[in-house]
Amino acid sequence: MSSKIPALKSIRSELSKDWNGIWDNSALAIGLYATDASVYSEDPLAVAIPKDIDAFKEVVRVALKHKTPIIPRGAGTSLAGQVVGNGLVVDSSKYLKKVIEINAKEKYAWVEPGVVRDELNFELDKHGLYFGPETSTTNRCTIGGMIGNNSCGSRSIVYGSVRNHLLELKFIGADGKEHHIGRGIKPDPFVENLCNKLKGFLDDQTLAEIKAVYPKSNISRRNHGYALDCVLQENGELDLCKLFAGSEGTLGVITQAKINLSPLPGKHQALLCLMCSSVDFALKTNISALNYNPTASELIDDNIIRCTENQIGQQENRFFIKGNPGAILVVEFCEEEENILEQKLNGLTKEVVHLGLIADHSIVQGDDMNRVWNLRKAGLGLLSNIPGDAKPVAVVEDTAVDPIDLPAYIQEFNVALQKRNLSAVHYAHAGSGELHLRPVLDLKSDAGRKAFFDIAMDVALLVKKYRGALSGEHGDGRLRGYFIKTMYGERIYKLFQDVKRLWDPEHLFNPGKIVETPHPIENLRFSVHYHKPELNTGFHFRQFKSLQGAVELCNGSGDCVKSEIIAGTLCPSYQATKDEKDSTRGRANILRRTLAKGNPDLNNPELKKALEYCISCKACKRECPSNVDMAKIKAEVSYQNSKNSFKLAQWAISRGYGVLLKARALRAPASLLFPLLRGPLQISSKRSAPNFSFEAIPFIPSKSGIWIYVDEFTAVESPKLVIELQKITQFLKLDVGILPPFESARSAISMGDLKHAKKLIHNNINLLKKYEVNELIGIEPSAYLGLKEEWLDLCGDNHLKLCQELAGKIKGYDSFLLEHFSDHGTPKFNDLESKKPIQIHEHCHHKALVGKPQVQEILKILGYQEVETLDSGCCGMAGFFGYQKKNYQISKAIANNKLLPKIKQDSVLIAAGTSCRHQIKDLKNRKALHPITFIHRTLGL
Ligand SMILES: Cc1cc2nc3c(=O)[nH]c(=O)nc-3n(C[C@H](O)[C@H](O)[C@H](O)COP(=O)(O)OP(=O)(O)OC[C@H]3O[C@@H](n4cnc5c(N)ncnc54)[C@H](O)[C@@H]3O)c2cc1C
Ligand code: SF4
Ligand code: SF4
Repeated sequence: MSSKIPALKSIRSELSKDWNGIWDNSALAIGLYATDASVYSEDPLAVAIPKDIDAFKEVVRVALKHKTPIIPRGAGTSLAGQVVGNGLVVDSSKYLKKVIEINAKEKYAWVEPGVVRDELNFELDKHGLYFGPETSTTNRCTIGGMIGNNSCGSRSIVYGSVRNHLLELKFIGADGKEHHIGRGIKPDPFVENLCNKLKGFLDDQTLAEIKAVYPKSNISRRNHGYALDCVLQENGELDLCKLFAGSEGTLGVITQAKINLSPLPGKHQALLCLMCSSVDFALKTNISALNYNPTASELIDDNIIRCTENQIGQQENRFFIKGNPGAILVVEFCEEEENILEQKLNGLTKEVVHLGLIADHSIVQGDDMNRVWNLRKAGLGLLSNIPGDAKPVAVVEDTAVDPIDLPAYIQEFNVALQKRNLSAVHYAHAGSGELHLRPVLDLKSDAGRKAFFDIAMDVALLVKKYRGALSGEHGDGRLRGYFIKTMYGERIYKLFQDVKRLWDPEHLFNPGKIVETPHPIENLRFSVHYHKPELNTGFHFRQFKSLQGAVELCNGSGDCVKSEIIAGTLCPSYQATKDEKDSTRGRANILRRTLAKGNPDLNNPELKKALEYCISCKACKRECPSNVDMAKIKAEVSYQNSKNSFKLAQWAISRGYGVLLKARALRAPASLLFPLLRGPLQISSKRSAPNFSFEAIPFIPSKSGIWIYVDEFTAVESPKLVIELQKITQFLKLDVGILPPFESARSAISMGDLKHAKKLIHNNINLLKKYEVNELIGIEPSAYLGLKEEWLDLCGDNHLKLCQELAGKIKGYDSFLLEHFSDHGTPKFNDLESKKPIQIHEHCHHKALVGKPQVQEILKILGYQEVETLDSGCCGMAGFFGYQKKNYQISKAIANNKLLPKIKQDSVLIAAGTSCRHQIKDLKNRKALHPITFIHRTLGL
């Protein structure tokens, strides 16, 4: 590595003065870009993030001149270590996102490499067109990365892989110049030389050997080695695009791609979900399904089905599961004619019932189809959600065989695992003979690493026996290049080396991939240098055993690096800055590296930078398929650091509302004091003061055991809500009491003041013991949801059972009211509070931990017609975070990303979060009403 440092300096200094990009070789950048979604990790030399295509070309050219290895990178979601290596990482995902041309008539588009596949399809939809190849990562993966990996997905039965849709390419070759390739494009001398030499390699004997050792011709998914089997066309010419697709950045750097577009899929669509007793039955069902020309046939096994039971984001997607299936085959049909769709659904169902292959089935249509696909796609991430060091590992996760061979192959595969006392999860693309099989291995142990290699070799030999593909879609990367000799023999491997040398004589384009790959257990994330630190943590980490266990849930899948254009909230800070350091993945990567040092300095500058903009919104807890809970992790890190350096501001913020709550009379002086607190607490001058209110909150006893829980934020800023809520419950003729206010511990948790949080929780539980509690109704989401979340991991073992009982009894005012309004057959209100359209912004914690739009449902019951719950992401205020001077800009950027542009001029705006209402007031100059106030007014109470 050290010999490359002078080269790096030369590259940096040779880049033109006005080079438009970011050059970063800080420890933070190195840590962020050392890994992808694979099990590999190796420090790059530096990271370049060009801001336009000229800057991209320039940095590649200069790096080549200085003989520095280049690792082209898109979203970094590769599963085999394709973007891991000791070179200059050139990231195209942040700025190179231009759709250069869409030609709807001739059905093609020219795009830059950083364009995200789903974002492109949003554009194409306007033209009735579609880029067919897909991956489970389509909402963040880039076209450059898709070409690099020759990606394909669930619908590959119809659309094939990227190779089938790549028409032309512009790329920087080893000479540092841009070249244009594609069928019918006149080759320049550089390209002509490549073609002539390549033709020389592909003599009849070699072509015959390729035909004999490559996967069977009907296995369309094949991503192992170079695609020399399809580069030669019938007219004797070479189609270099076919070779470039799947070459993993080893032949050159793509600057533009011309891709083929397809018409939108048939408008009559349905999923036939077939409940089978076992994987074997499902794979036999798959053979029947393929006779009906489906657009996809996908397997979900019982491990995944079980994992979704406890994943908050997936529970609502389980609606189509019937009984207790051992496996589900999801078969998709898209037809132009409705009656053809009916015939196929009925025909296949009858056939598989007759063959005794299924126990039950369900048919899913419309928007619900996305929910089924969400569950299927989340499979991989969900599997990481297993406590402990052993995790399902990507090692043999991507083999493809002829679908007819699949049942027999899988049986042998499982026997091979059993021999080594292993088992695997089975899911994905049964229709094209590919299952993602992940054995559970502990890569932190020598035995686990040995098993990793042994099972990879066993499976390579098994796939060879079936003449399958060792990789169907995920590619070779650092993982599978080693096995090319085993699969194709020495001569073909040597041919690959010749191809690489021809295109890249100095081995500068993504070296160590496909050829000259290091041994597969080199540079694993969890290597022999990995340590487990002994930390006395504030949280118990009851589920994942340690802080490290909670951090290592992140497998790098990259669901948290999708842009604001894509639905959902994850991750608001990344969406605002598009910096890897501000994504959940970036944070987890820096933390994992820090903790693995054994005696970690959790106050290191890299970690501080990575965590600074995490607003503890908990979107990751819901939307990350592994449920990484960065809010909790950040609180723990702050706690660990506060043990060594006590900060007055942290203390004041953690306890401020508690003080105000106890000494309610203090609120008037606090309002007056607020301007004086701006300096010491570093509050932005652009922030208005909170509205402290003095309305008294009575204690009202309850015989029914149903109580309103009055948290500190509601009591100090909006006590009126308590009274209004109680009146609404009276209207519903319910006996609901009001408890004396108590502090939820939210501020203490956010500030990492975990000792104090524990004390509060302990006292709260003791207080609640004094009352007969059957139901608790919460108002402020961040406060009452803490009882379902952090309290359970902060309370002592002696209180755990009680705390779990309380967690089962607490619900939001919205869930509570929705139950009772619908129960009572509430009449519609003619005299509505407003005739304007209503827009609801839900609090982040509500989105993350509850999810359902209950306020919208209540308002519809009350008679409002135009009610919309916004896909508004996070408001960016996040308690005290948005008040702080240093966070004002990012707080504003987050709000501007999703929430503020969605607010209509003439709407009634409703928001349950105290912070959300404050943010809307400060940045939009609009008053958002609390749902309770709005309902209260509607009822005319
Ligand atoms: C949960 C999960 C599910 C997945 N499911 C699928 C699936 O269904 N199907 C599938 O095919 N893959 C799948 N993948 C793998 C991966 O997401 C895809 O291959 C994806 O297309 C990679 O895109 P990316 O932008 O992340 O590329 P990266 O990972 O950044 O790069 C991929 C390759 O392309 C090269 N590359 C990137 N840009 C350029 C460029 N400008 N010039 C030359 N080379 C370049 C890189 O060097 C690398 O070799 C999955 C991954 C995960 C984590
Ligand atoms: S935090 Fe979650 S979504 Fe993000 S990369 Fe890690 S596992 Fe994937
Ligand atoms: S808590 Fe929110 S801001 Fe922090 S990492 Fe998770 S999604 Fe991102």
